[in-house]
Amino acid sequence: MRNPHAGLPFTTADASDEDIAVALEDVSIPTLLLSCLHMSGDTAILDGPLRPQGLFLNEVQGYMSEEDKAAARLFALDVIKDWRDRGCPEPEPPRRDVVKAMMDWLVCEDVPDEYVDMLLEEMELDGGDARAAAPADPEAAAAAAAALPVVIIGCGMSGLLAAIRLQEAGFPYVVIEKNEGVGGTWWENTYPGARVDVGNHFYCYSFEPSDHWTEFFAQQPELQAYFQGVMERHGVDRHVRWGTEVLGATWDDDAATWSVALDDGETLTARAVISAVGQLNRPFVPDVPGAFDGPSFHTARWDHSVDLTGKRVVVVGAGATGFQLVPAIAEAVEHLTVIQRTAQWMFPNPNYHESVGPGVRWALRHLPFYGRWYRFLIFWPGCDKGLVTAEVDPDWEPQHQSVSEVNDLTRVMFTDWITSQVEGRPDLVDKVVPDYPPTGKRTLQDNGSWLKTLCRRNVDLVRSGVDHLEADGVVDSDGVKHEADVVVWATGFRVNDMLLPMEILGRDGADLRARWGIRPRAYLGMTVPDFPNFFMLYGPGTNLASGGSLIFHSECEVRYTVQCLQALADGGLAAMEPRPDRHDEWYERCQAALKMTVWASPHIEHNFYKNAEGDVHGLSPWRLVDFWQWTRQVDLDDFVLTSRR
Ligand SMILES: Cc1cc2nc3c(=O)[nH]c(=O)nc-3n(C[C@H](O)[C@H](O)[C@H](O)COP(=O)(O)OP(=O)(O)OC[C@H]3O[C@@H](n4cnc5c(N)ncnc54)[C@H](O)[C@@H]3O)c2cc1C
Repeated sequence: MRNPHAGLPFTTADASDEDIAVALEDVSIPTLLLSCLHMSGDTAILDGPLRPQGLFLNEVQGYMSEEDKAAARLFALDVIKDWRDRGCPEPEPPRRDVVKAMMDWLVCEDVPDEYVDMLLEEMELDGGDARAAAPADPEAAAAAAAALPVVIIGCGMSGLLAAIRLQEAGFPYVVIEKNEGVGGTWWENTYPGARVDVGNHFYCYSFEPSDHWTEFFAQQPELQAYFQGVMERHGVDRHVRWGTEVLGATWDDDAATWSVALDDGETLTARAVISAVGQLNRPFVPDVPGAFDGPSFHTARWDHSVDLTGKRVVVVGAGATGFQLVPAIAEAVEHLTVIQRTAQWMFPNPNYHESVGPGVRWALRHLPFYGRWYRFLIFWPGCDKGLVTAEVDPDWEPQHQSVSEVNDLTRVMFTDWITSQVEGRPDLVDKVVPDYPPTGKRTLQDNGSWLKTLCRRNVDLVRSGVDHLEADGVVDSDGVKHEADVVVWATGFRVNDMLLPMEILGRDGADLRARWGIRPRAYLGMTVPDFPNFFMLYGPGTNLASGGSLIFHSECEVRYTVQCLQALADGGLAAMEPRPDRHDEWYERCQAALKMTVWASPHIEHNFYKNAEGDVHGLSPWRLVDFWQWTRQVDLDDFVLTSRR
């Protein structure tokens, strides 16, 4: 079978010389040149003068000059024509040392060896799906797995992925999903402007094609449709119970099973439970005194029956969501008041609202490995470099401004970007330049639309909190009333109340959420002592604030979880749970590392990353490459294994 990334063959009738030349106007030139290397086998490309000059996240032209790009297109046209005229043969996979040289060339720096295996796995240049649950003896494995029914809670990105992998491994499973459809975050967040912040050619499963995106940062309907399509292609839908909520689960130590209670009154019995309920699924609305008479809703519960046209709207909160929402509604409303407690740091990203041109889609579909190298190009700059920016240098001063030299350089760059957009509006500068270290809260992607919107005459930015509500408006904490027809709460999620409101009862009735209190913790973010055969995806300590994509993390977690289940099934074991010493040591290590990050900075107020005591529990302080390495192969020594009685 042809490698699915080797390019869909075309003919002169499909793609004339002119068609190809037109398509090349759109594409990422450095990525194109690497695809040429695959087509021609000519590694001299790596030594030639046409090459990227620098690296920056989402700058996919490598700062090449217009002349160099034009020359590269002419060069590529000849290579592609030749390849076409030879019948678009499947290129031989390049040697590992050549691939490594290609990586270094594309990102203009040495990609350390420790990353190469991870990246090769992510890129699947060999056409294989290395994270698939592929047992050595599929028949025997499926027979063993058949005795291990699993309940998955949630059918968002993580639950769907778990279902696909369990299916591959032969485990019987059911997915319980409280919504009527797939996608979780991308099902519920239908507010205007909702879109992903991580480029979609990376924010998609590594094993699913990604040549269809119409925008580089797709909006919610397209993301939801993507997950719907994946679900249907893998036949997961017939295993899902929609519109059903899991109320809780109770472990029976004698039977070594979980009883999973559903809101329709039924109780399911399973040998293992995988929680895939997400960290951003339970909306947070602050408890504000008073009452507002008009329509009022949270962004994740958008009321599409309310027409905002010509209305006075107050948006409370301008973090990641408000930042997307405000530019999307400002034009239609009569007046928009944005109430924001703290300004946000933002990252320049001119492509944020850009469409994917037809040439790019053609290249993704037809040019060998173009999509794979493009994936690498948007993965690498955000892979672990953000962690360096987040690390606190205790000797650096002043810490209220930045936490290290690198962090300070970021502050200067971001400040320049922000102030350059509000020239002529000195009244806005103080309001929009944050007064805390950069990357300490979720850093936003910006193409200028936010500040342009704030400069509109019908938009006011109020740097304040909310004091109380009145029938016809919102009174801020400075006592100023903002009249409103509609109030929108862009106030985020209850991220620190993980698994809320489920009651998970483990051995001897141990209550997981009560045990955690405000400190949710789990070994590798997935397993907890006294809660055998219970696995969490996107659990404590796995959210990413430093870069990467949560899909990457989920793929690591699901591989590990399925390996655990395979160990249970193949070993005829009753149960497994992490050793308390490993779990506790892991937690202490995480906390020690998190305390040395900007996310825990005492100089940052109103940070949803922190719990009531100012500690961070949701985020991962680890490099992606470390998490990948730790979850690549389960170590059964980390677990207490219980044999069947
Ligand atoms: C607006 C927004 C933008 C984001 N942008 C990015 C981004 O750019 N990049 C990125 O990496 N991440 C982003 N995220 C994070 C995003 O949540 C993850 O990328 C990903 O969607 C998480 O998938 P999940 O399946 O783990 O959780 P979710 O998508 O939250 O899905 C959880 C599912 O579990 C279901 N569920 C919960 N409780 C129960 C229960 N008791 N019973 C039954 N079902 C239940 C929910 O209904 C939901 O369907 C964003 C999040 C938001 C809110």
